[in-house]
Amino acid sequence: MTLSPPAGVPFFPPALFEADRTALVDVVREVGLDPEQRFILGRRTEAFEALLREDLKARDVVACSSGTSALALVLRALDIGPGDEVIVPAFGCAPLAASVAGTGATPVFADILPDSMTMDPDQAERLVTGRTRAVMPAHMFSVMADMPRFVELAGRHGLRLVEDSAVAQGGVLRGVPAGLWGEAGVYSFVQVKTCGMPGEGGVVVTRDAELGARVRMLRNHGQLAGQRFVHHAIGLNSRFDEIQAAFQTHRYAGFPARLARRAEIAAYYTERFTPLAGLGVVPPPPGPDGRCYYVYTVLAQEREALGAHLAEHGVATHVYYPRPLPAHRAFAPYAPPGARWPRAEEAARRHLALPVHHMLSDAQVEHVADLVCAFATGRS
Ligand SMILES: *Cc1c(COP(=O)(O)O)cnc(C)c1O
Repeated sequence: MTLSPPAGVPFFPPALFEADRTALVDVVREVGLDPEQRFILGRRTEAFEALLREDLKARDVVACSSGTSALALVLRALDIGPGDEVIVPAFGCAPLAASVAGTGATPVFADILPDSMTMDPDQAERLVTGRTRAVMPAHMFSVMADMPRFVELAGRHGLRLVEDSAVAQGGVLRGVPAGLWGEAGVYSFVQVKTCGMPGEGGVVVTRDAELGARVRMLRNHGQLAGQRFVHHAIGLNSRFDEIQAAFQTHRYAGFPARLARRAEIAAYYTERFTPLAGLGVVPPPPGPDGRCYYVYTVLAQEREALGAHLAEHGVATHVYYPRPLPAHRAFAPYAPPGARWPRAEEAARRHLALPVHHMLSDAQVEHVADLVCAFATGRS
């Protein structure tokens, strides 16, 4: 097989917002010169929340300052705090554990499933105690967690179900959008996420109007809208920016097409990589149900060598979580002595993320796939 010369395939799009540059400048001018002089939580934020609410058929969508603070707001709105336990996956991003610890509650780490890398419902169930208040599965890379099982588990044990859907905006499992399986879910708009924007932001999405109202109050220092300096609860400053709201509203129309392009690239990769499973490179479980291609990861027996091979040929890759959450110093106090999470450890050792963003050309995508195939077959 002949490989084309290094094409330079970046992991993230180098000019993500270039096509919308005029719109962005217009929005800055419009908000900046608006006689209202309102830069947070104004009518543009309300319009953006309404757009998402109608699109998702959610009861409420509350825009806030990041995906991380969206999780914090949900946990606070559910009154989770000291003495409570919340079951979270042992593999994933720091906010999963940090948001729980931040309330004073204890994150309890459950091992993951080997193929989807999402929390294993059986492992989670084994960790339920009299103190467990909530279970918080997270969708991982491109695969939604087994939400039907978590709904059933939460129902049986009388637990609250919070969905860390920060990476899965646009994903749908059995007809239900990511974020609406639990009592509340979140999306993150940080630039690298599928509906990213040039700055920090996120939302809480919920089927529960009362919970939505509580989150709305907590995001602005425990105040009700239109009633300043009256604090009903200890809240946060987690407000949303009017410029970003207008820009996100503008870009939302193109979101399905961007997601579809990611799914198309992922489907091509998976088709090419499925025959490599016996050769030490395993693609994620195929879609489309319950998939959302934020990140496309393979599990590679020789992860470092595969990454180096791709880098030599100009292809950038990424290792997201080189160690399980309980193996971090920050979360060690929540790791019971001697406990192990073998599948999380395996995923941390093996996963390698390939470029899957919507701005890749077909030639770039083929180049990446050719290189991975050549690596796997060359080693057998
Ligand atoms: C990105 C992410 C978050 C946090 O979102 P921010 O907007 O970056 O704060 C939370 N959970 C998961 C699974 C994420 O990937």
